[in-house]
Amino acid sequence: MAEPLRFYNTLTRRQEPFESLEPGRVRMYTCGPTVYDYAHIGNFRTFLFEDVLRRTLRLFGYQVTQVMNLTDVDDRTIAGAHAAGVALGEYTARYIDAFFANLDALRIQRAEHYPRATEYIPRMVDLIQRLEAAGHTYRSDGSIYYRIASFPAYGRLSGVRPEANLPGARVDVDDYDKEDARDFVLWKAPRADEPSWQTAVGPGRPGWHLECSAMSMELLGETFDIHCGGVDNIFPHHENEIAQSEGATGKPFVRTWLHAEHLLVEGEKMAKRLGNFFTLQDLLDRGHDPAVIRYLLISVPYRQKLNFTFDGLHAAAQATDRIANTLRRLDHTPPSQAPAEPVQAAIQEFRRDFRAALGDDLNTARALAALHTILRQVNIALDADGIGAAARASLTGALAEADSVLDVFPAVAPTTGRDDADIERLVAERADARSARDFARADSIRDQLAEMGVTIEDTPHGTVWHR
Ligand SMILES: [Zn+2]
Repeated sequence: MAEPLRFYNTLTRRQEPFESLEPGRVRMYTCGPTVYDYAHIGNFRTFLFEDVLRRTLRLFGYQVTQVMNLTDVDDRTIAGAHAAGVALGEYTARYIDAFFANLDALRIQRAEHYPRATEYIPRMVDLIQRLEAAGHTYRSDGSIYYRIASFPAYGRLSGVRPEANLPGARVDVDDYDKEDARDFVLWKAPRADEPSWQTAVGPGRPGWHLECSAMSMELLGETFDIHCGGVDNIFPHHENEIAQSEGATGKPFVRTWLHAEHLLVEGEKMAKRLGNFFTLQDLLDRGHDPAVIRYLLISVPYRQKLNFTFDGLHAAAQATDRIANTLRRLDHTPPSQAPAEPVQAAIQEFRRDFRAALGDDLNTARALAALHTILRQVNIALDADGIGAAARASLTGALAEADSVLDVFPAVAPTTGRDDADIERLVAERADARSARDFARADSIRDQLAEMGVTIEDTPHGTVWHR
C-alpha cells in the first residue's frame, strides 16, 4: 500500500497523508439523517461523498468499519410526531424506510452499523456520568449541561471562540448558531408532551450531540480514524462531540475530520420558501434516473460547493449515456488481432490517473475525467483496428475497478422495462434478415426497436445499439 492517500483534515486545516490507527483497517463515523422528514439532495450529496470515501478506502486496500447513526429522538422528530399525532417510533419508522430505499436508489453502499439513538440511551447515560465525574457538567431545572469553560480545547475544530460568552449562559435547543457558543444540554428534563426515559441521571431524554459521542465510541472505540459530515455539522455538533468524548476519556476522539460543502440549487441556497427545495423522491417522481443523480452529485469534489441545476442533470444524463454506449459497443465488438501495446499503455495511464485523483482528497472530477479519457481512447481503438483479447481483459478489469468507486455504469437490470436480451435478439434477427437481403424485414425490426427507444448503428465492426 505504497500509494499515497491524502485528505484535508478540518481539525488541522491542511491536507495530510492518511494512515489508519490499525494497519489495513479504517474505522469511520458518518453522521446520519434525522428521520423527521425525507432527506433532501443536499443531505445526499454528503452521504454520496461518504460513499465515495468508503469505496476509495477499499480501493486503496483498507477494510472499512463504518457507522451511520439514525437520529430518531431529538427536537425535530418529537415535533414531527406531535404534529402528525402519532407515536415517535411510528413517525420515524416511515422516514427510516424511505432513507434506506433512497440509499439503494443512489447505489450507496450500506454501512456496517446503523445504530438508533433510542437504542443507546444507557450508553449515553454512562457518558454523562463520566462527564459528571470529570467535572464537566452542572444541573439546572432537571436538565444537565456541559460547561464549555471546563474544556479548554473547545473551539479547536470550528474556530469558534467561546470566551465572549457570559459564564453560565445556556442553550437548550439541539441546533444553534455560532453566536450561541454556550453551555449546551446533554440531558433534557422531562416534559409532559415529550418521550422520556427513567435513568440513573434522572428522568428525561438525551440532547442530540450526545448520541454521536456515545454510539461512535461504543462501536468504534474511544479513538478512531475518520469522522465525517456536512460543513453544517462542524459547529455546534462536531465541536460538542469532541468536548463530550475527550472530556470523558481524556484521549483524542478522532484523527481526521472530513466535511462536505453545501449544495446550492440553481445558484441559491436550498429553501422551501424559494421553491428550490428537492428531496431525492421529488427528482425520482419527475422521472430522473437515480444513477444520473448520483453522477451529478459526485461530479464536484466534496470540498467545493455544488451548484445543482437541471441543465447539469441533463449534462450528467448525457455523460452516463456516453459511458453506457461505449461499454455496450465494447461488449458487442469481437476481439481483433490488433497489437495490445497502445491500449495497454492507455490502461496503465488511466489506472494511475484515477488513483492519483481519488488519492488527492477524493478529487472525483479528475477521476471522472480520467474515465472519459480512457473511454474516448476505446472508441478510437474500436474505430481503427479494434482491441485484442488480452488488452480487452485488462481494460475490463480497470473499468470494473473504477466503477467499484464511482458506480455510474449502467445497472444490469433494465430501467426501460425492456430486457437487454430482447433487444439483442431483435438486433441479431435484423442482422440475419440483412444477410438474407430481406430488407423489408430488417427495416421493420429497426422500426420496432425505434419504438422501444433503441437506435441502431451499423459500423464496420457490426451493429451497435443505444437507448
Ligand atoms: Zn452526529
